[in-house]
Amino acid sequence: MAVSQRRTSKTRKRKRRTHFKIGVPGMVVCPNCGEMKLSHRVCKACGHYDGRAVVQPKEDEETDAE
Ligand SMILES: [Zn+2]
Repeated sequence: MAVSQRRTSKTRKRKRRTHFKIGVPGMVVCPNCGEMKLSHRVCKACGHYDGRAVVQPKEDEETDAE
């Protein structure tokens, strides 16, 4: 394991943490319906993946994506 050669200053640490992003990684907006979905997964709201419908979404939700 690498050993740090210099102690990280408070300022340097705080500056580094300004880039920290809160949120679930891998969530993207579906290009078909605009819902949040996991990337590289079929959209749960509209059942689309890669620009085409691959599964039928559930009927109980009114997601008129077509
Ligand atoms: Zn969708």
